[in-house]
Parts: sequence; structure tokens; C-alpha cells
Amino acid sequence: MTLSSIPLATSDLQISGGIRRSSTQICAPVMAETVDQMLLLMRKAKELGADLVEVRVDFLKNFSPRQDLEILIKQSPLPTLITYRPIWEGGQYDGDESQRQNALRLAVELEADYVDVELKVAHDFYNAIQGKKPEKVKIIVSSHNYQSTPSVEEIGDLVAKILSTGADIVKVATTALDIIDSARVFQVLVHSQVPMIGIVMGEKGFISRILSAKFGGFLTFGSIEAGVVSAPGQPSVTDLLDLYNFRQIGPDTKVHGVIGNPIGHSKSPHLYNGAFKSVNFNGIYLPLLVDNVANFLNTYSSPDFVGYSYTIPHKEAGFNCCDEIDPIAKEIGAISCMIRRPDGKLKGYNVDYLGAIAAIEEGLRASNGASNGSGSPLAGKLFVVMGAGGAGKALAFGGKEKGARVVVANRSYDKAKQLASKVGGEAISLAELENFHPEEGMILANTTSVGMKPKIENTPLPKHALKHYSLVFDAIYTPKLTRLLREAEESGATIVYGTEMFINQAFVQFEKFTGLPAPKQLIRDTLARNT
Ligand code: NAP
Repeated sequence: MTLSSIPLATSDLQISGGIRRSSTQICAPVMAETVDQMLLLMRKAKELGADLVEVRVDFLKNFSPRQDLEILIKQSPLPTLITYRPIWEGGQYDGDESQRQNALRLAVELEADYVDVELKVAHDFYNAIQGKKPEKVKIIVSSHNYQSTPSVEEIGDLVAKILSTGADIVKVATTALDIIDSARVFQVLVHSQVPMIGIVMGEKGFISRILSAKFGGFLTFGSIEAGVVSAPGQPSVTDLLDLYNFRQIGPDTKVHGVIGNPIGHSKSPHLYNGAFKSVNFNGIYLPLLVDNVANFLNTYSSPDFVGYSYTIPHKEAGFNCCDEIDPIAKEIGAISCMIRRPDGKLKGYNVDYLGAIAAIEEGLRASNGASNGSGSPLAGKLFVVMGAGGAGKALAFGGKEKGARVVVANRSYDKAKQLASKVGGEAISLAELENFHPEEGMILANTTSVGMKPKIENTPLPKHALKHYSLVFDAIYTPKLTRLLREAEESGATIVYGTEMFINQAFVQFEKFTGLPAPKQLIRDTLARNT
């Protein structure tokens, strides 16, 4: 089942401060042991910007339904959803079932805005409240699957079963074993004729929580405190609003993301979502925890899934999934960015090389006092690349492309030779580089990991050898000022930080994703704040 043929309705709604593209609400689960603590959390949820609270009364110690529900429902600053989840559906309540249902009936009587009832007992519950349910109270009939996500047909049957109970709102929560599982829930969500909550739990289901706004979900859950969640994979209200621009996501929002494994640490969502928002670009950028790149791309094949960054370990797999590859990325043998063209074809680029070379060119121009002329300041220069791994290849091919004379120095000489022959350059061993100075004013690029955190006292080339270089670049960006760069500066060379490579490749990707000029200062500031 793919997402290529989902028809999406556009329903833009106006909110203060901009367009609110979907009506999907943010619901903050409130879990605490006392009513007073719950009231505090409810106020916090409102301050954070949630639309409603899910009051998880199964977390209360010494719960007195009549007294406590009255306080919780009447004093909540936000609309309430009352949930009394039993252990047999993944909750905390381990007591008598009829007492539990009595409490839920009381919540209906006290006019909670929403009451959650599990599918297994929904028929009984409806029978018990027949004719007594106030019009304003909506019943959410829920089903939770903590093992897996069934097929689209099975989810469809489940929804029909839930509807047959008389549910006002359908809730289906499943578990992701793979990122592609969310697509099946989206498929049902987008076609649902009744309000529906569709959540795929777990780290691999994360995108379902954000994209529920795109596919018309009734609500998504957002935790009040990051990490204090009612189900795995739940983002915080703050991340939904500030990091993922949740209010601006709508049916026509274009989806981007970084494909890797692991991916939770990535700072890229901060960078691109902030930049998208600053230029009013209707796009979202997500961390995509992908196991199999081909399966991911085949599943999310709709024209709205448009742009990806690639990181470890998927750069090569991404390369193999392209319909077309930029000539230099082809020579390098790895891509770091992929765009779905309007005709649906996937085109791969290696923006690492563009980022690194642009950073070095800027450094050269600044040190020569030259303006942005048409020719590259690298042309004709002797360009020494230390390292022959992924970054080394990108730098060596980039140097060749700009007309530099490339020398590759690597610990494993064979790899240096292989790369040098591909770029029409010379190969030497890393040891030989110490006494290599055929001319003055050479350019040096380190792409080995020597000097990277935590071994920051190491350096790939001793200080005495650095005086022959006019510019030294280090791909390492942790730390920003490596020992190599510090000693190069002391030796009189212009230095270019690895962070500049990262920033420049982000500019290039932004422009490929949006077709707009990158908001460079904003991207720099975001990166400075998040590293
Ligand atoms: P890679 O493919 O694993 O290549 C590692 C390179 O480092 C190889 O040439 C390897 O030499 C060399 N090396 C490793 N340990 C060494 C040692 N003890 N002594 C001498 N040489 C050693 O890694 P990569 O993806 O190219 O990344 C390399 C560095 O670039 C990392 O620090 C990474 O963080 C950085 N990087 C930065 C950016 C950015 O945006 N700034 C982007 C990509 C990468 P052998 O061939 O002999 O093993």
C-alpha cells in the first residue's frame, strides 16, 4: 500500500499570527498522583499552547470519582478528555470493571467534553448511558494495539466496528515496527468520514504524530514535559508548536526529512523547520528513522513527499534508489540529498562537496580581499586532501571540479591512490605529507577524524608542516577549533571551520527543497543555538 494516490482536501483555517492549515488539535495527557498536581499540569498545558487535556485518572492514587471528577472537569482551564485506562488496555487501573465504568458514566454526567471508552466495553457502556448523554459530551471509542500495525483492510474493519458502537470519535493506536507502518494509518485517516485519531506508537511511528495534521487527524498527543509521555514516541507540546510548526501543517504541506539510523540526535529539523517558517514555505522537515530506504521511498511515493537529506548509514542506499544522479555525486559514489522532481523521478546530489568547496572558496576570497568573481579561487591551486573516506572523496572531486591540482594523502596508501587516480591527482601517504612542500601557498583540507572529540589533543599534521599552506580547512566540527586549525592560524594560514561546510551544505539543501534563497543568517543563528 502506498501513499501515492491519496486525495487530500484543502481546508485552510485562519489563526492569529498566520495561516492555520489544519484543525487537528493538540491534546496534552495529564498524569499525576493527586488532583492538585493534575490541576497544576492542566494550567501548564494551557500555557504551553495545548488545545485540550487528557485527564488520565488511572494515574491518581486514592481516586474518589464523584469529588475528584467534579473538580477536574469544572476547574480545568482547557476542554477535558477523561480517560480511565485499565491494565488490559495498557493503562494503570487494576480494579473492578463496573466501578471503572461507573466513573466514566459520571464523567459523562458531569459533562466532560470527551470521554474515552475502550472498544471492548463500548457496547455495554453505550447501553448504560442510553438517553442520558448530554449533547455536548463526545465519546471517543478507542482501540490500542501494542504489538504491530495491521493492514489497511484490517484497520478499516476496526474503524467500522468502532463506528457500529455509536462512537462520536474513532481512536486507533497501533505500534510501528517500521516507519512505513504509519502510511497504512494515514491511508485510513485521510478517507475517514468521521472524526478520527490515528496514532502509530513507538520511535518508528513518530511521523504519524506530526503528520496527523496533514492527513486530517482529530487530535495528536503532546507531552507537557519532554520525555514524560503517556505512550512511546510522543513529542512534547513545545516541540509540536515550535520545532514542527504544527499549526501550519495542512493537507498540502510538503514533507521533507533526514533519512538515517539512528536519527534522534539530528539537529537538522531545528534548522530547516525554522528556515521554512521564516520564508512562509509550506513544508515540514522530520527525522526519518528508516530501516530500508527502498521500502520507505516506495511507500511514501506521493508527490507531497519531496526532499530528503541522507546520513549514516544510508548514503549509499539512497544513491542506489535514485532515478537520476548529479554527475559529481555519481563519481563520489554517495548522495547526501534527494529531491522528488515534479515528474516523480528521484534525483540525488552530493551537497557535502558543494558545502565544503563553497566554504573554502569563501575563505580564499575573504583572505585575498577578492569579490565573488566568476572563476573559482581554487582554480590552479595545489589542493592537499588528507583522508580518502566519504568526506575525502567529496573534497577531492570538488577540488578537481574547480580546477585545482589535487593531492590525496591518506593513512592507507592504497585508498589514496585509488582516489587520486579518479580525480587525476597525486597520492602520498600521510607520513610523507610532513615533508611535502613543492610550493608555498598550498591549500590543505583535513577529512580524517584525527583531532575529533574526545581526542582533541591529536592532530593529523605537525605544526612545522603547516607554514607552507595559505589556507587550512578542517571537516571536523566537534570541536569547532581543532588543534590543526589552532596551529594553522598560529602559523599564519587562513582557517576555515568544519561548521562552515555543514552550514553551506544546509544553504544548498534549503535552496533545492524550496527553490528560494536560503535565510543564511537565520540558519547560522539556529545552528549556533543548537550545537
Ligand atoms: P570515513 O569515511 O570513515 O573516513 C575516515 C578517514 O579518516 C579515512 O581516510 C581514514 O583513513 C582516516 N582516519 C581515521 N582514523 C585515522 C587515524 N587514526 N590516523 C589517520 N587517518 C585516520 O569518515 P568521513 O565520513 O569521511 O568523515 C571524516 C571526518 O569528516 C569526520 O570527522 C566527520 O565528522 C567529518 N565530516 C564533516 C562534515 C561537515 O559537514 N563538516 C561532513 C562529513 C564528514 P583510512 O582510510 O586509512 O582508514
